[in-house]
Amino acid sequence: MNEVKRPKKPLIFYYAIALIILLVLNLFTVPWLAQRQVQEVDYGTFIQMAEDQDLGLVEVQETENQIVFTNKDQTAIYKTGMLPDPDLTQRLNDSGAQFSGQIIEQANPIISFLISWVLPIVIFIAIGQYMSKKLMQRAGGPNAMSFGKSNAKVYVKSSEGIKFSDVAGEDEAKENLSEIVDYLHNPNKYKEVGAAMPKGILLVGPPGTGKTMLAKAVAGESNVPFFSMSGSEFVEMFVGMGAAKVRDLFKQAKEKAPCIVFIDEIDAIGKKREGNISGNDEREQTLNQLLTEMDGFEENSGVIILAATNRPESLDPALTRPGRFDRRVPVELPDLQGRAEILKVHAKKVKIAGDVDFEKVARMASGASGAELANIVNEAALRAVRAGRKSVTQADLEESIEVVIAGYQKKNAILTDKEKLIVAYHETGHALVAALQTHSAPVQKITIVPRTSGALGYTMQVDEGNHYLMSQEELENKIATLTGGRAAEELVFHSASTGASNDIEQATKLARAMITRYGMSEDFDMVALETVNNQYLGGDASLACSAETQTKIDQQVVELVKEQHQKALQLLQENRRKLDEISKYLYEKETITGDEFMAVLNA
Ligand code: ADP
Ligand code: ZN
Repeated sequence: MNEVKRPKKPLIFYYAIALIILLVLNLFTVPWLAQRQVQEVDYGTFIQMAEDQDLGLVEVQETENQIVFTNKDQTAIYKTGMLPDPDLTQRLNDSGAQFSGQIIEQANPIISFLISWVLPIVIFIAIGQYMSKKLMQRAGGPNAMSFGKSNAKVYVKSSEGIKFSDVAGEDEAKENLSEIVDYLHNPNKYKEVGAAMPKGILLVGPPGTGKTMLAKAVAGESNVPFFSMSGSEFVEMFVGMGAAKVRDLFKQAKEKAPCIVFIDEIDAIGKKREGNISGNDEREQTLNQLLTEMDGFEENSGVIILAATNRPESLDPALTRPGRFDRRVPVELPDLQGRAEILKVHAKKVKIAGDVDFEKVARMASGASGAELANIVNEAALRAVRAGRKSVTQADLEESIEVVIAGYQKKNAILTDKEKLIVAYHETGHALVAALQTHSAPVQKITIVPRTSGALGYTMQVDEGNHYLMSQEELENKIATLTGGRAAEELVFHSASTGASNDIEQATKLARAMITRYGMSEDFDMVALETVNNQYLGGDASLACSAETQTKIDQQVVELVKEQHQKALQLLQENRRKLDEISKYLYEKETITGDEFMAVLNA
């Protein structure tokens, strides 16, 4: 279905037509109809008139099984049902009547004109009006008949738009994008030198890191219109609709240039096209249209396309080649400083008590994305309201980190005393192993209050600073720490529990990565045995090696974890007295801070 354009002045047009029809009806047909109605008579009357030579025109309508005829002067029309009458032709011949095929039409040209020409038009217009009303209701706007129109939301120049200062951290991305802002402010500077701005810029990074915000900020800083659409909105039920939407979006954009077009989740349309025939036609057509449009407008036309994705590796190479989305801006998870800044930006929207230490909160929320940090601040504000306080405190923020990471506290969880003791030993085991290994980060907090996420307790470790590199030793220590929980259970209760399933998963993942990706095993040296698929979404990997190698890898993973498990066991055994002491303390207090932990450890 193509774009259906509606005339610009539709209402007046329709009213005029309706008026003309009314006039025509009034002037001609009504009086005429009053005069000349078709009278139904019996067959006897017809024969009588024929014999009296009183017939004018006669029409035998065999399909309708009737005869229509007029009197001699053609002032009246009659009709009668047909009876089997072999003499009919003879009778009519004798009567001197004229045979005619179209008495009604002849006698009534205006009506027939109305019926065959005007009526269909009237009906069409009525249906059209009705449909457009329906569509208008569905689209929720005055732009009816908008098949194939992009629903791009137009943010016309607005001063209340998002600015770079609203996006905390992400300095590299901002620096990269400020060139676009500069270009939109002053395109001639670039044209003079002959430099061409990239047409498309791809923002890649994990979810919730502020890609949408950055795109909006570019528009806000440049003070240009901002068109935003999600990739999935292009893909419609009907093949070709998405392509029409792309066309329309670009048409709108070119009219409004200079402007920013933002396509979120571009992987929804930009996925690699596959060779098989049963591909997704609609998606491919949409992608093809997008490629065509991007080639279609000249460089420096003032339309800049920003697109966001968290699966850059799945994009079609045609999309990322020079001349299309040729610039890639990574938008990574914020580092410690970035997290603190993001917290501060969002804290401006709530009332914060004077004693809040954002650095500390940022440190506790390691690995959190911008969206999660925004969520943490909001949870803290909600918690403050719940407690009837007027401002958000440090405790609110710390608790809300746990809420965002592990869910709410289970108020009436039914742990038996034995279970609680096991959890206390388990968590202390993690913390103690971490603290005893010099290279492991100190413990921030240990708690054995069950959470709605299902965690019965956890140990929050804190990185002191940013970590970009991890040594083999640090990784091994991490595995040992992960096994520390189970090790403590074994040591004290001489049995294993199901509480360690998450630890096991993480330890295995880490050990496997060390061997297959980080080249930390002697046998395989620096050979990559795995490739990562979704860097920004969980980072699952697929093996790229022979079956025999796979077996060897599995053996080495087991060995590595086993070795660290033994190390943890030994560490705990050597410090059994401390393990008991701290576990007991934790069992009683349920939540202890890192400082309390260290105090007992060093006592
Ligand atoms: P993405 O598009 O990368 O998935 P968004 O831009 O939609 O993420 O961000 C979601 C929300 O997270 C934003 O509305 C904002 O509140 C918050 N946020 C994310 N990153 C940042 C940041 N760097 N600074 C401030 N807020 C951020
Ligand atoms: Zn554990």
